[in-house]
Amino acid sequence: MIPIAKPIIGEEEIEAVKEVLKSGILTQGKKVKEFEERFSEFIGAKYSIAVSSGTTALITSLLSHNIKKEVITTPFTFISTANSIIFTGGKAVFADINEDFNIDIERINEKITKKTEAILPVHLFGNPCDMKGIMDLVEDHNLILIEDTCQAHGASFENKKVGSFGTGCFSFYPTKNITTGEGGMITTDDEKIAEKCRLIRNIGMKSQYEYVHLGYNFRMNEISAAIGIEQLKKISSFIEKRRKNSQYLTKKLKNVRGIITPKENKKAFHVYHQYTIRVTEEYSMNRDQLQQKLKENGIASKIYYPIPLNKLRLYNSNKKCPNAERFSKEVLSLPIHPSVDEKDLNLILKVIK
Ligand SMILES: *Cc1c(COP(=O)(O)O)cnc(C)c1O
Repeated sequence: MIPIAKPIIGEEEIEAVKEVLKSGILTQGKKVKEFEERFSEFIGAKYSIAVSSGTTALITSLLSHNIKKEVITTPFTFISTANSIIFTGGKAVFADINEDFNIDIERINEKITKKTEAILPVHLFGNPCDMKGIMDLVEDHNLILIEDTCQAHGASFENKKVGSFGTGCFSFYPTKNITTGEGGMITTDDEKIAEKCRLIRNIGMKSQYEYVHLGYNFRMNEISAAIGIEQLKKISSFIEKRRKNSQYLTKKLKNVRGIITPKENKKAFHVYHQYTIRVTEEYSMNRDQLQQKLKENGIASKIYYPIPLNKLRLYNSNKKCPNAERFSKEVLSLPIHPSVDEKDLNLILKVIK
């Protein structure tokens, strides 16, 4: 079976973990600090704060900005994006997506009210949002920008990495472009926000037993950080392979009736966390039948996401997001991770064709 995702762990990661285990220092220490410094350099942000997951990165970011009112976000995302807004006391307002699966600037504009405090875009599937459009709205309305960069390590818009426009929230879950097992990272240029995030991550403690803020235990451990340092050294080659695999599929699927391949914005650098096609009515079978056919041929595929968040009872939102609702019935993500080779891609193409 060709899996939909596969973390790549080499001897370097194994050796780095052994070193940590032998050192006896297992949580937030010098490996975490080194990982943070290297990550800041990679993203081009002044500060990085390592945490326990992408979800806790989002929660910590929202808390550090003290957001209690409306946050405009996308309904077409992993549930942690919106859950974090609710958990920290805000209200999630969904703005519909456009053809590239990212939040639509015009739809954001329509949702801005006096109660709007922040915009929380998701660079879905590794494809950067239109950051020019978003930054214009952020500046015009004096809003806070929190970026869900959980799928977009290394992606950029007009040569500026995502996660450096606002407060970035990354995940290192094993399916992501790089992993630490579980883990997350916050990136920011704002010293005050960075300091607040550090406090929230570590039970509000400034120096030993000096508690200056309400906090959690969202720390990253040294084992994860040691893996992260090694993964970060390899990220460019991982991204290159993902892009190469994706562009190969796009080229070969161009003339297949009813299949819509992912769009790349000329101003952006897409890192293809997922390669997601749309299976439309014009194709010879429906999306679920195609998924079944792929499975019969040893190819795993996944539906990201089958239910837009505005349709969940949890969010009690009857607001319509027609694009998200339609695309959720058409999308299918295909394997393009670095372990997928040309033979695998040709098999995928053969089945689809
Ligand atoms: C993975 C992911 C998260 C959550 O990250 P975890 O590390 O699993 O907590 C949040 N948002 C998006 C868009 C994600 O893909």
